[in-house]
Amino acid sequence: MGKPTGFMEFDRVNEAYSPVDQRVNNYREFVAHLSDADAKLQGARCMDCGIPFCNTGCPVNNIIPDWNDLVYRGNWKEALDVLHSTNNFPEVTGRICPAPCEAACTLNINADAVGIKSIEHAIIDKGGENGWVVPQPAKKKTGKKIAVVGSGPAGLAAAQQLARVGHSVTVFEKNDRIGGLLRYGIPDFKLDKRLIDWRMAQMTAEGVEFRTGTFVGKDAPGKCIANDAKQTISPQDLQKKFDAVILAGGAEQPRDLPIPGRELKGVNYALEFLIPQNKEVAGKAKNLINVSGKHVIVIGGGDTGSDCVGTSNRQGAASITQIEVMPRAPDQENKSMTWPYWPLKLRTSSSHEEGCDRDWAIATKEFVGEDGVLKAIKAVRIEFKDGKMIEIAGSEFELKADFVFLAMGFTNPLQQVLDAFGVEKDARGNAKATTDGKGCYQTSLKKVFAAGDMRRGQSLVVWAIREGRQAARAVDEFLMGKSVLPR
Ligand SMILES: Cc1cc2nc3c(=O)[nH]c(=O)nc-3n(C[C@H](O)[C@H](O)[C@H](O)COP(=O)(O)OP(=O)(O)OC[C@H]3O[C@@H](n4cnc5c(N)ncnc54)[C@H](O)[C@@H]3O)c2cc1C
Ligand code: SF4
Repeated sequence: MGKPTGFMEFDRVNEAYSPVDQRVNNYREFVAHLSDADAKLQGARCMDCGIPFCNTGCPVNNIIPDWNDLVYRGNWKEALDVLHSTNNFPEVTGRICPAPCEAACTLNINADAVGIKSIEHAIIDKGGENGWVVPQPAKKKTGKKIAVVGSGPAGLAAAQQLARVGHSVTVFEKNDRIGGLLRYGIPDFKLDKRLIDWRMAQMTAEGVEFRTGTFVGKDAPGKCIANDAKQTISPQDLQKKFDAVILAGGAEQPRDLPIPGRELKGVNYALEFLIPQNKEVAGKAKNLINVSGKHVIVIGGGDTGSDCVGTSNRQGAASITQIEVMPRAPDQENKSMTWPYWPLKLRTSSSHEEGCDRDWAIATKEFVGEDGVLKAIKAVRIEFKDGKMIEIAGSEFELKADFVFLAMGFTNPLQQVLDAFGVEKDARGNAKATTDGKGCYQTSLKKVFAAGDMRRGQSLVVWAIREGRQAARAVDEFLMGKSVLPR
């Protein structure tokens, strides 16, 4: 433990953001990591409380008190090693994780939690700046070949773990670039895409092969939002050529709102807006959806909706309104009821702070158009009684809209892919596999494993990394009879 009295002496210091009027003019990251001096004092705030709830609150079980202490003592390189021992991509989680660890921090009971995520961010950025992140190729090859379908955080974490114990790993990705939603989905202002290229270079040097533009399935992919595939490989071929396969294709089926007017021009899924914007920022074709000077309504209150708000602000929308069917959450959680768990409370993202009207307990009834083009939405206020959603009579209203972005979550993975493999599905249409015990992460097909959103349904990056790492261990055990990979 760094400084026994640190938590009483030092206040929490948050990372600095560029001013709103500057950052909305571009798509660059705008959060500066803590200075060395600030990170040291923030590390000193950790009480090393004995039972590190933060460690279990973090889905990859980052060994947080240890790296807090190491940063306090200035042992940055060792802190990086400890961080990497549980997390393949802290450059991602240190930027975009919602930090359930901080909700679980003991200091959070009656004070401000340790700024765990900001310390993580500072450690990995220092590692990058100092060239400490180097390839760790396996000393010996096993001769086993593994195919990973999907290059999001789950697939990449699995691939890196497996390559490091000597397997030959090939990652298949239908899009033209590696990264899954990290590359195409999450805006550049939240996550600089050069970080993915940096990690890929490390993984390539460790022996991972990347095959982009390759769809794994039966026929060419049907209805899916992002698909740059130029070739298709059948699941049967893959199973013949590889000793094991990991399905890490994400949960790509967006939830629809099939109300009158859904077909109007201007009503889009969120990713139909966000992915082309990532591509435009990467220097490819211009985003065909341009909301400059237009009235935007975002339906859905999560990360995806917030990313539509941030992107609309950067494009120069005339107005942005985000509506949500659920009632407004309380500003503050009741900590004695919720700690150390993730509390329900109002969350205001940096994108919301950049400008957006927000409203809650609203059901959208109709998209109104003229000559096939969206002009407004019709909606009604609702209340919840005995768990039932009831429309409030007389509360109907209309909101002007040139664009609506549907950001109401994702229902399941592309069924076409799971069906082509013939794996059993759970009740929600995900690839069915357990996460514990013998045979974990294994689907109903012996050689085929599943991890990340494709197995658990839409979730978070940190959960995808956890599942990728654990599935890697399960595959290693399956192929070699034992594994040195951590669980
Ligand atoms: C807009 C948006 C913002 C988000 N923001 C955050 C955030 O701030 N913080 C956070 O923690 N989480 C966030 N999430 C959630 C997070 O991105 C996902 O939980 C995570 O990326 C899931 O990882 P994954 O590896 O399972 O799948 P994905 O990242 O979805 O990657 C799956 C990849 O598999 C590919 N693929 C699918 N099928 C095939 C096939 N048959 N053949 C070849 N390739 C295939 C897909 O093209 C895709 O590239 C966000 C999600 C969205 C949509
Ligand atoms: S990965 Fe997320 S939950 Fe884990 S320590 Fe980092 S910010 Fe916290």
